[in-house]
Parts: sequence; C-alpha cells; structure tokens
Amino acid sequence: MKKKAKKRPLAKARKRAARPDYTAPARLEKIFTALDTLFPAAECALRHENAFQLLVATILSAQCTDERVNKVTPELFQNHPTPQDLAALDQKVLEQEIRSTGFFRNKAKSIQGACRAILERFGGKVPATLDELVELPGVARKTANVVLGVAFGRAEGIVVDTHVLRVSRRLELTRETDPAKVERDLMALVPRKKWIDFSHQVIHHGRRVCRARKPLCHVCPVEKLCRSEDKTRAFPPPAGSPP
Ligand code: SF4
Repeated sequence: MKKKAKKRPLAKARKRAARPDYTAPARLEKIFTALDTLFPAAECALRHENAFQLLVATILSAQCTDERVNKVTPELFQNHPTPQDLAALDQKVLEQEIRSTGFFRNKAKSIQGACRAILERFGGKVPATLDELVELPGVARKTANVVLGVAFGRAEGIVVDTHVLRVSRRLELTRETDPAKVERDLMALVPRKKWIDFSHQVIHHGRRVCRARKPLCHVCPVEKLCRSEDKTRAFPPPAGSPP
C-alpha cells in the first residue's frame, strides 16, 4: 500500500513559495552592479610591498583589524625584510613585535613556519599556486586567496572572511556557515573574472554598510534585494543618519 505524502505546514509552504530565486541571474547581476558602483576601486587594505609582506600581513590579520596590522608591519618589515630574517629571529622577540595583533604566539609560530617552508621548499619565494600556498604553516584557503588575488592577480577562489560570510548569508548567496562551503557556493554564483574584485567589494560592504551588529540598511544599495532578518535591527534609520 502506498504511503500518503506528508503534508507540509501551510505557513512553511507559503514561505517557500514566496521565496525569490536567490540565484536568479538578474538578481545576481543587480548585486554585482550595485557593488561595482559602490566600491569601484575596492582593494586589499593591508599595506605591503610584495607577496611575502602580504602573506605575513594576512597571517597577522586573523582576528585583528587591518588598521592594527598596518601599525605593526612597517617596523616589522623594516627590521626583518626577508623570509631568512624572520625565520632566524628568536620566536619570543617576534612574539613581542606582533603582540598587539592578538594570538601572537600562534601567529609567530605560523609566520616562522611559513618562512622556513618558503626557504626550504620554494627557493625563498612565495609560491603562486593555491595547492602550494596551503601547504605553508598557518595558511588556509582564505589567506592563500588573498595572496593569489592581490599579489599575483590570480583568481583561484574567493576570500571568505567574517564579512564575506555574513554578507553572503544575508543576501542569500549561501545558506552555509562553513567558510569552505560558502566559498564553494559563491564560486558557483560569481563569474570567475569577478572573484578578486567581488572579494574586496564584499569585505568593504561588510565593514562600512552591512555591519555585523547594526547594518546600515537605509543606505544599502541592495536593500530591496535583501530579505535578511537582520534588517530589522537597523530600521528605521537612526535620527541624523545620512540620507
Ligand atoms: S539591506 Fe542591510 S542586511 Fe541586507 S545587505 Fe544591505 S546592509 Fe546588509
């Protein structure tokens, strides 16, 4: 005997039916255009002069603001400009020099481990492929994507930091919470030629507009496309806020 199909509660079914196709090309195009207009020249905010400096700065930026990292790195790179210099440094000394970026013991270990690997396995040069970069201690896909996109102009993935994760979920570009799965979803939706710019633009959008606690939805160019419940936290706009 055939089993009767289980009925979905009506409210749930209605909600599903009312849900716009979040992957519709027209919707995605509007989001990309809005980001292009809002952040036409979005760039990596970490100060650096070469791939090696960017790699170290990106490791330091974990759980830390780029502003704080930019205060620490000029002196760090002036005193220890090469992988050899940083690898040879006493770990305790390095820890003190990067202390203000937080998690300084782990970061010092990662930086020195990465420097040694660069010297031993890559001839003293930062490797330019994703597979090689993620072999370095302390380097996961996020850091590798930053280095590849910014230093080498190579789009091998999309940077998923805390801002990209939050904004992507609010805009229903993904329902995942695991950064690797979020990146996979975004790579499927965003054209490859936009991966590098899209990463920077969404990071900027997350920092300046779609903030974690009080998103500025009243100035958000994709507000009409956004059904995030977090919008209610910002509406109506606070008195005196820009139009
Ligand atoms: S409308 Fe608000 S929650 Fe939605 S993307 Fe814009 S700032 Fe973020």
